[in-house]
Amino acid sequence: SRARQYGKERRVSTTFKDVAGHTEAKRELMEVVDFLKNPQKYIAIGAEIPKGVLLVGPPGTGKTLLSRAIAGEAGVPFFSVSASEFMEMFVGVGASRVRSLFEEARRNAPAIIFIDELDSIGRKRGAGIGGGHDEREQTLNQILSEMDGFEKDTSVIVLAATNRPDILDPALLRPGRFDREVVIGLPTMEERKEILLVHMRGKPIASDVEVMELAQITPGMSGADLKNLVNEAALQAAREGYNQIHMSHFRTALDKIMLGLERGTLKLS
Ligand code: ATP
Repeated sequence: SRARQYGKERRVSTTFKDVAGHTEAKRELMEVVDFLKNPQKYIAIGAEIPKGVLLVGPPGTGKTLLSRAIAGEAGVPFFSVSASEFMEMFVGVGASRVRSLFEEARRNAPAIIFIDELDSIGRKRGAGIGGGHDEREQTLNQILSEMDGFEKDTSVIVLAATNRPDILDPALLRPGRFDREVVIGLPTMEERKEILLVHMRGKPIASDVEVMELAQITPGMSGADLKNLVNEAALQAAREGYNQIHMSHFRTALDKIMLGLERGTLKLS
């Protein structure tokens, strides 16, 4: 169905509680939640609701998770699309998809549109070898014109994720488009501990598991990597026939992940 195609979720149960760390980002994004919950408050005083927010950071740090949590906190529907999908389409299909996506969101406003991997279509226009990609440019132009076409009182907010803000077409960053940027960085040690705890929730974790130590020995890992570590440890425990996940299972899982990385057979996030 069309709704499924666009990744529409009517009821989103994710909230900020599911997102560990990112305290500053959450504080900034609370304002977006408030816009979506009480658009009238802003419209009445003549303030324009922001249309676009860029979430900037490396893969797997929780940009999708945070966007979904905003929808969950505000109680509004979530429409998501990955911009890289447009690259494989015939000319004209991407643009018409964008049109229907925005149309549906407007019909269900207040709502959130989430565009993952914006950089795949958002690169500077005309910068491609051999004159650029027609489909890409048409899709990008359609996004720009949809955002320009929002009425002042349209409470649809477009969130977009990228890890390459430097290569984006400057037209995307103009006022009234993605004019706000929130940085979603790799977690600190303390945040890695919090993320591990989120993903250990509800799992039979043995009392010998030292979460702080795990946080110390996983520098550079993203939220997605840590989630994977907890799952690999659980698999290891099951493989060995345990009914609880022990510290040794975490160590084995981590060794395997590191070995995979060295061999280049496994990629983090
Ligand atoms: P990408 O840019 O590759 O899409 P992303 O930044 O959008 O990555 P998510 O897809 O949101 O990352 O993260 C993947 C998964 O990793 C999430 O579903 C979640 O389970 C886990 N995760 C990432 N960051 C966090 C976090 N801060 N707290 C809890 N879980 C996290």
